[in-house]
Amino acid sequence: MYLYNSATHKKELFQPNSPDVVKMYTCGPTVYHFAHIGNLRTYIMEDVLEKALRYMGYNVKRVMNITDVGHLASDADTGEDKMVKGAKRENKSVMEIAQYYTDAFFADCEKLNIKKPEIVQPATGCIPEFIQMVEGLVEKGKAYVAGGNVYFDTSTLDKYYVFNDHDEEDLAIGVREGVEEDTNKRNKNDFVLWFTKSKFEDQALKWDSPWGVGYPGWHIECSGISMKYLGEDLDIHCGGIDNAFPHHTNEIAQSESFIGHKWCNYWFHVHHLNTDDGKMSKSKGEFLTVSLLEQKGYDPMAYRLFCLQSHYRRNLVFSWENLDNAVVAYEKLIAKIATLQAGGDVDETALAQLKERFATALNGDLNTSLAVTAVYDVLKAKTTDATKLAALADFDQVLSLNLIEAAQKLQAKQKAQEEANADPEIDALVLARTEAKKAKNYAEADRIRDELKARGIEIIDTPQGAKWRKV
Ligand code: AMP
Ligand code: ZN
Repeated sequence: MYLYNSATHKKELFQPNSPDVVKMYTCGPTVYHFAHIGNLRTYIMEDVLEKALRYMGYNVKRVMNITDVGHLASDADTGEDKMVKGAKRENKSVMEIAQYYTDAFFADCEKLNIKKPEIVQPATGCIPEFIQMVEGLVEKGKAYVAGGNVYFDTSTLDKYYVFNDHDEEDLAIGVREGVEEDTNKRNKNDFVLWFTKSKFEDQALKWDSPWGVGYPGWHIECSGISMKYLGEDLDIHCGGIDNAFPHHTNEIAQSESFIGHKWCNYWFHVHHLNTDDGKMSKSKGEFLTVSLLEQKGYDPMAYRLFCLQSHYRRNLVFSWENLDNAVVAYEKLIAKIATLQAGGDVDETALAQLKERFATALNGDLNTSLAVTAVYDVLKAKTTDATKLAALADFDQVLSLNLIEAAQKLQAKQKAQEEANADPEIDALVLARTEAKKAKNYAEADRIRDELKARGIEIIDTPQGAKWRKV
């Protein structure tokens, strides 16, 4: 499988350290509010990545953190902890809102067929591990204590900016914007590993540490949790593109300084979902959640298809019109699958060809829009229905669009509708018309058709015979 690696800026053949298990880490949500559908785009694409790796025969060991402490409002290590802010907003305790929004996150994931990683670890459950890492960094001379906080010393690194060559001036402006610069930092890019002093004395969760009572920084959480479960050699680390700097840059700095060797081989970043007027946000305008989509009558599967129709390394613009187009595409797709008849023989050669096309799409840097095209190719293929259904069921292990289940549901609904509309007298008249046509008695056939029309019944001639419906 070829994947674009943000660390090398190239598409590379994906080769895990061990041939049969992929160690995969994904940055989880900060549980101070609902996830917006932009956050969920990232989780959908990571879900597809995990399933695609499994499809290719790998066993995947995947870990996700839950950020329930230490993620400050500003990436420049200032501002209030987002969890404390959330708790104040709702007049609840930090642990209450952490539990509430963690549950809400996984409920959203379930609606979007995003599989829960087998290991999900809240940061507050790993404080001793974080302290141990920070101690190690201090001992190695990679971190220093200043003004009560422990900082990572970026001047000890050969290379700090691993993902892009940042413009130093831009970055300095970014740090200055609306925040006071932290005068304890020896270098502009140094970041906090452990806080004991913050402008906000109402930090709810605090733990004892060698540097005093305090709490961990957000970046150390992902390094610590990843190493706890996946060891010192990570195959692939994922997150939204905004996480590349400073979060992932800092994770690499501290992890590699701690272990003394390269840590993670591949970095997978999902680009953003934006609205027409810019960045998706939890505070401004309409807050786009899965629940809001449902309230407006949208099937979450249409949103999943909307995401799969575009490549993960492109920005995606959300608009209701774009989502409506995905709804139409999804409904048409399911209606088409619902016309396939189960049973009969699978043509193994044809099935292998269809699967090959699908695998090629995934292998080319997880090209999900091409993978969706492979679904349409199945429907157009000249092969048996059984072969088509087998191919669709196979692809849906990765796409998770409920292709077979939704089509079966539609078939059941159509059947129930037919039964509800059943009328033996009309069936008999339709049959009599068919017989009359067969006997070339067209006058009688037309008479019956007109009689039915007068009763509000329309005859539809199909390859399977004449059907009727009320108009
Ligand atoms: P957070 O809960 O803020 O820590 O973010 C959760 C995940 O969503 C992270 O991987 C972010 O990089 C990602 N993310 C944030 N905003 C967007 C967006 N507009 N589109 C796609 N992913 C996003
Ligand atoms: Zn992270």
